Order: sequence, then C-alpha cells, then structure tokens
Amino acid sequence: MKHFNFVIVGAGSSGRTAVETLVAEAPGRSILLINSEESLPYKRTSISKNVVNGYQIDAFAIHPAAWYPEHGVELINGQAALRIDAEAHTLSLESETISYSKLLLATGARACMPFPDLPRGKWSALWTVADGLILHDKLSGLKKLAVVGIGVLGVEAAWQAVSAGVETVMMGLDTRPMMKSLDPMSAKSLEIAIRKAGVELLNRRKVLSIIDNPETGEISIHTDSGDICADYAVLAVGGEPEVTLARSSGIPVGKGILVDSSLVTSAADVWAAGDCAEHAGGLVTGLWHSAENQGYVAALGMMGKSVIFENPPFRLKCEVFGGYWFSGGPVNAPGGSGGLDSAETIEVDDITWRPRFKDGKLGALVAAAPRGMEKGTAKTAQQLLLRGAGREETYSVLKGKGS
Ligand SMILES: Cc1cc2nc3c(=O)[nH]c(=O)nc-3n(C[C@H](O)[C@H](O)[C@H](O)COP(=O)(O)OP(=O)(O)OC[C@H]3O[C@@H](n4cnc5c(N)ncnc54)[C@H](O)[C@@H]3O)c2cc1C
Repeated sequence: MKHFNFVIVGAGSSGRTAVETLVAEAPGRSILLINSEESLPYKRTSISKNVVNGYQIDAFAIHPAAWYPEHGVELINGQAALRIDAEAHTLSLESETISYSKLLLATGARACMPFPDLPRGKWSALWTVADGLILHDKLSGLKKLAVVGIGVLGVEAAWQAVSAGVETVMMGLDTRPMMKSLDPMSAKSLEIAIRKAGVELLNRRKVLSIIDNPETGEISIHTDSGDICADYAVLAVGGEPEVTLARSSGIPVGKGILVDSSLVTSAADVWAAGDCAEHAGGLVTGLWHSAENQGYVAALGMMGKSVIFENPPFRLKCEVFGGYWFSGGPVNAPGGSGGLDSAETIEVDDITWRPRFKDGKLGALVAAAPRGMEKGTAKTAQQLLLRGAGREETYSVLKGKGS
C-alpha cells in the first residue's frame, strides 16, 4: 500500500491552498491531492463570470499539469475518495487504497437540487467548469431563460444570459436580490440595475416544481404565484456542504463536517477546511478567500503548528450589469448590545458605502457602485475591513478613494 505524509481530498480553493502551503513549508514530504473533477484544479469563481464567452476546460486552471509533479505532488484527477478508515489511517479510492499520516477533507459544497423529476436536458446548475460549458452551449439557442434563485449566483447567471441577448426571468423566495450579502439599501440599486437591463425579477416567489411541456417544447415553472414558461432553467438556489465521504466514514457532521477552531475534526489526524466545514455556531463560510485561508490554517495544523481560524471578514464581489456590489463581514447581523452598530452611509461619487462598526472598528462593509468600481478601491476597502480600521480612517480612506 502506498503511503503519503499528507493527503488532501478535494482540489478546490482550500485543497489547493493547503497543497501550496505544504509544498512551501514542508518540502520533501509526500503529498497526494485527489480531485474528483476531470479538469485540472481551477478557480471556481471564474465560471459564472465567463459563461457567455465560453472557455476551454482548463482555462481557469490554477497551475499547469506539470506544476504538481515538479513540486512533488501526486495529483489524481477524475476520481472520488470513497472511504476513510480513520483508525487505520487509510483512504479508499475507486482505484486503490492508500495510507496517510494526516488527511484534509476539502470536499467543498455542491449545488442544491430541491426539485425532483427535473426535465432532462432542460436545466443546468452553475457550479462546476462542466456546468458552465453546458450552459454556454445552450445559451446561443435560447429564446427565454429562467433563473431560479436570486442570490449572487442567480444574479451572475442572469447577467450572463442578458449579455448573450437572451430574454431572462429570475425568481426566488427572498425579498431582494443577494439578500444574504447586501443590505436593503445596496440591494435596491442592484434591483434597479437588473430591471433596467430588461430582466424580469420576481422576488418573494417560491418555485414548487419544474416540468416539461412536450407540446410546446418549453418548461413550466410552477410557483406559488402562477406558472412561468421558458426554454431552459438555471438552478442557482445555493449550495450545501459536501459531506458524503465524511458521513460514510463515521466522521461527525451537522450541516457540514464539524471542526474545532483549528479545523480539526473528531477523527484523529483528519482536518476539514472550506465550504465542507462547519465551525462553531453553525458557521459555514461559502467564500473563496475564506476557503483559501482555511486551507492555509489546516495545512499548518497538519504540520504540527497550532493555528486558529479567525474567520476574517473576506469580501464577496459581484460585478454585473455594469456595476459592482461589494460585501464583507456580517452585513445583516442584528445590531444592539455586543453587536455591530447600525449601518452608516458614505456617498462618494457614484459609490454608496455602508460601513458598520463595533466599538469604533469596522466590522462589516457593503458598497453599491452601479457604475462600477476600480479594483484598487475594492482592494483598499477589503484591507480596511480585514484590519478592522477605525471610524475616522475608514471615512477618510473611503472618501479619498471614490472613483
Ligand atoms: C459558480 C460559483 C461562483 C462563485 N463565485 C464566488 C465569488 O465570486 N466570490 C467568492 O468569494 N466565492 C464564490 N463562490 C464560492 C467559492 O467558489 C467557494 O466558497 C470555494 O470554491 C470553496 O472552496 P472549497 O475548497 O471549500 O471547495 P470547492 O471549490 O467546492 O472544491 C471542492 C472540490 O472537492 C471535490 N470533491 C468533493 N468530494 C470529493 C471526494 N469524495 N473525492 C475527491 N474530490 C471530492 C469537488 O468535486 C470539488 O472539486 C462561487 C461558487 C460558485 C459555485
């Protein structure tokens, strides 16, 4: 049986960062990276921004194929890890069983699929590089696309469809688009931009089922407030932690794989990081930079260093319909004693910033920039947030940075 010092299951943002950290900090140790997708490990966030233009399967690869052997990493593509025997320190793959010293679960999340019996060939998710290619192929022939879900992925999907000249309707249960990430004021400007682009936006709309309509060749989307017809649907109703491997291996899971503040699971020498991990208080992060950060923290832990995951307030950006929406930290957390103060408003040129402070330090920040925002401005705002800048500094920097 082959033995590896470090095994990483899942080659998304957290798995890849863990590998890079181990390569840099623990040279000479054997590393196995298992990637269940066929493509080289890639930047998932690029998919939903590039559907309309299309791309080659490895267009968003983080490293070329040669990088892995050159850095002493064995990469297995297109195979899922099937079972961990934590006591024996072995991992079964489709092709073989290997043994490990330390193992990281970086299995990410998968797209939620709440509607049974979806009509074949009439819908796709927008989660993997393969999903994006399917949607790209479909878009050119569509008259009308229905996007189910009005969170960030739904908004990005609608923007891609509109950019391809496809009539688009989007719908979701929430009262406003990107409800988790934006406060009501910032979401209002996004809503205006969506509608201005010609998208029919149906808030507060519960989808009950999606069925084929063979007579017309369309699909019917049954909602709690009438039916909607379209040629094709994109399901963007969120993700759920991918815990299949952990669960079948007897590693405790709740919403996600339960970890302590050092990202250690209840199984000896097994860590979990990124979207698959559930932190104290039920937190599942769901952000690219957070997954990277967790991969880094877990890798250091696997090397025997004691590091805590602090859940830094990484930002989410949504660059759509000619604008830029920015969100970082618990923007919609209830205020009051011990919590964040109410949002304040800083208007700078065409950007509306909505900072929230706790004890005078920046704790959450939203921005709505319907005419766009320079990258440097967004970066500066992220830095303010990450270091919990004081009120005076936040105001002066944001005011000086308006584009
Ligand atoms: C289309 C899209 C766009 C996004 N855009 C943004 C954005 O703009 N900004 C942002 O902050 N976040 C964004 N996110 C969220 C962000 O991509 C995730 O938070 C991040 O990718 C999580 O990284 P991860 O390493 O935890 O998991 P993932 O990236 O989900 O990777 C996990 C990998 O593990 C594999 N895997 C699962 N089980 C097994 C197994 N048993 N064996 C082997 N491999 C396995 C999966 O197939 C997958 O390849 C987006 C997500 C999606 C889907």
